[in-house]
Amino acid sequence: AKAAGKNRITLFDHTLRAERLHHAEIAAGLRQALARDELTLNYQPVVDLTTGAIHAVEALLRWTPTDGRPVPPDVFIPVAEDTGLIVDIGRWALERACADAKRWHHRHGIAVTVNVSGRQLRERTFRDTVLEVLTRSQLPRNALTLEVTESMLLATTPDETQRITDVLADLRAHGVRIALDDFGTGYSSLSYLRTLPVDILKIDRSFTAPLTNTDHRQARAFTKAIVELAASLELRTVVEGVESREQAGVLQQMGCPLAQGYLFSPPATATQIDDLLQVTPWQ
Ligand code: C2E
Ligand code: CA
Ligand code: CA
Ligand code: CA
Repeated sequence: AKAAGKNRITLFDHTLRAERLHHAEIAAGLRQALARDELTLNYQPVVDLTTGAIHAVEALLRWTPTDGRPVPPDVFIPVAEDTGLIVDIGRWALERACADAKRWHHRHGIAVTVNVSGRQLRERTFRDTVLEVLTRSQLPRNALTLEVTESMLLATTPDETQRITDVLADLRAHGVRIALDDFGTGYSSLSYLRTLPVDILKIDRSFTAPLTNTDHRQARAFTKAIVELAASLELRTVVEGVESREQAGVLQQMGCPLAQGYLFSPPATATQIDDLLQVTPWQ
């Protein structure tokens, strides 16, 4: 038993060390990524379920080191947050997204949504940065949606939570829309719904797969209740991760206004979005 315990500790130390190395390697690479032009944005359409038209596009970061394979966002974004690099990277993403969205908004009236991490929101300059980028890009303020998660508030003190809430309310008063991302995955979603100034709810994709599974009537009831609650609070709902026509059909019947997922389009390059906008609506 003692030997086994010892082995387990060795193994644990080993993986921990490998993880730290990995983290340091990613951090070092990421530090150069902006200067080396290794970051790009992909855009995934958010589709109006009644017309099939593109309502908005969500900007999603991609990182391909010049001498390597693409690193998935779920791997590099946590490192960017830990190291603080997300502040510069996030600002770059906001500028890039607003610049690309200008022509889409002008020609097709669509909005762009940009993911924001808690680290960015805690920066004192966040509010001014957003308004400055908007002014310089000449994108109308109401054509930008910022996506935040409730988990970004986990590590904050009550004072900080209040300050972040005030910043979001201030940006919203300027016309910027706020979306609550990954809704349903946290612990206190409903209480944040009361306190956070939001316009849009994005229901996490873990609720989407069970929608068409007859063994999961509860999942369907949950999604329906959230869609109805959101509508009564005058919030719009986006359901994420829609991969099949059946899922889209169920959501349409529930009166869910917006959806996003591989059924409509995977995240695409800006040029591919230009082309897509010529041929939509679907259906
Ligand atoms: P998210 O904000 O929840 O983004 C949605 C993720 O779901 C994206 O993964 C997207 O490619 C994926 N997805 C879309 N449709 C489907 C579908 O039908 N099925 C399945 N299985 N997946 C689908 P991605 O691009 O790998 O991004 C992962 C996460 O990285 C994002 O989750 C977001 O939290 C973060 N992220 C991406 N870009 C940024 C950024 O610019 N800033 C920050 N702070 N975070 C970002
Ligand atoms: Ca998002
Ligand atoms: Ca999400
Ligand atoms: Ca997420």
